[in-house]
Amino acid sequence: MMAPDRRVLLNPGPVTTTDTVKRAQVVSDTCPREREFRDLMGRVRDHLIGVVEGGSEYVAVIFESSGTGAVEACISSVVPRDRKLLILSNGGYGDRMAEIGQAYELDVLQYRIPWGRPLDKKSIECLLQRHRGQVSHVALVHHETTTGMLNDLAEFTRLAHEYNAEVVVDAISSYAGLPIGIAELGVDYLVGSSSKCLQAMPGLSFVICRREHVEGQPRGGPRSYYLDLYSQHRFFEEQSGVRFTAPVQAFCALDQALIEFFEETGAGRHRRYLRNHTEMVEGLRRLGFRFLLPPEQRSCLMIAVIEPTNPAYSYDEMHDYMRSRGFVIYPERYSAPGAFRLANMGEIEARDIRAFLRALEAFLEEKSLGGDLYEAH
Ligand SMILES: *Cc1c(COP(=O)(O)O)cnc(C)c1O
Repeated sequence: MMAPDRRVLLNPGPVTTTDTVKRAQVVSDTCPREREFRDLMGRVRDHLIGVVEGGSEYVAVIFESSGTGAVEACISSVVPRDRKLLILSNGGYGDRMAEIGQAYELDVLQYRIPWGRPLDKKSIECLLQRHRGQVSHVALVHHETTTGMLNDLAEFTRLAHEYNAEVVVDAISSYAGLPIGIAELGVDYLVGSSSKCLQAMPGLSFVICRREHVEGQPRGGPRSYYLDLYSQHRFFEEQSGVRFTAPVQAFCALDQALIEFFEETGAGRHRRYLRNHTEMVEGLRRLGFRFLLPPEQRSCLMIAVIEPTNPAYSYDEMHDYMRSRGFVIYPERYSAPGAFRLANMGEIEARDIRAFLRALEAFLEEKSLGGDLYEAH
C-alpha cells in the first residue's frame, strides 16, 4: 500500500503521524471480544500508564471519544454530591472544564483569570481557605493549548493535597510530549488522548487514575451512562475490553504509536520537540513575528503568535499559501484573541520546521511584508 502524501500539521491535534502508525490501521476485520484484541487492549492500557511512569497503583480507563470525553467522564464521575469542584482556569480548556461541571450541575467554584496569565497560587490558596473542607477536587489544565502556557503541576497538586482535595489534570496536550511523573507528583486523575503528542489517530481518550479511586464504592457519580469512569474501569478489569463497540483501527494505531514512543523514549521525544520549538521560535523572530507569552511561560509544544497588524497581511492568504505547500496552520478563532497558533506536536523533524520557515519567508516577500509585520501603512 502506498502511503498518502505527508502533511506537516501545525494544528494542535490530530498530528502528523508515522507511516507505520497509519498502516497499523489496516488490519483484518476484527471482533473486539476476541482474545487477540483483548490482549492488545491490555498492552495499550499498561503502556499508557508507563508513559507517565505510573506503577500498579494506577489504572488507565480508556474511552472511545476525543479528549473532551475523558475529561467529562472524570469530572462527572468523581465529585461527591455535597462537595465542590474548584477549577483553575487561564485559558479555553480550563473554561471548558467549568462548562462541563455546569452541564452536570456540579457545585463549581471557578478561579478564572484572563487567558495567558499565570495562575496565582496566593489567590487560589485564599479560595481553598475560604471553602475549607468543601472542595473535594481541584481541576486544572497542565498545558493550556489555547495560549501555549504551562501551568505548574507539582505546585498545584501539592496545594490541592494540603487542603485534602484530589487533583484532576487535563494533560491532553502535554501527555507524551513533556515528562510527567504521575506517581512522583501524586496526581489523582490525569487525562490524555490519542491524537496529540502520542502521535496516534484521533478517537481515543483516557483517564489515568489511582486504582483506589475507581475501585470500591463510587464517591460521586456516575452522572452519565456512557461516560461512567467506574463502569468503564470495571468492565476492563472483568472483560479486558471497553463496554461499547471498540474503534478497533484506532486501537491498533495507538498500540503501534505507543511502541514507537518507547522506542524513541520519552526523553528523546521531548528533546526532539524542544529542538523543533527552538528552531521555530528563532525563525519566526527573525521574520519579525511577536509572541503572546514571555519565554518563561511558554511550553515547547505550542507558540501563540501575535497576529500582524500590517494591512497587507491576511491570515487566510497565509494559510492557503502554506497549505498548498503541505503545511497546515491554525486559525485565530480557536486561540487567544489577537493571536494564531503553531503547535509543535507529532512526527515532525527540525528540517520540516526549516522548510516551513522558508515557505513563510517566501510568502512574506511576495506580500512585501518583510520586516514590518506590525507597522501600519
Ligand atoms: C485538545 C485538547 C482537549 C480536547 O479536545 P478534543 O477536541 O476533545 O480532543 C482538551 N484539553 C486540552 C488541553 C487540549 O489540548
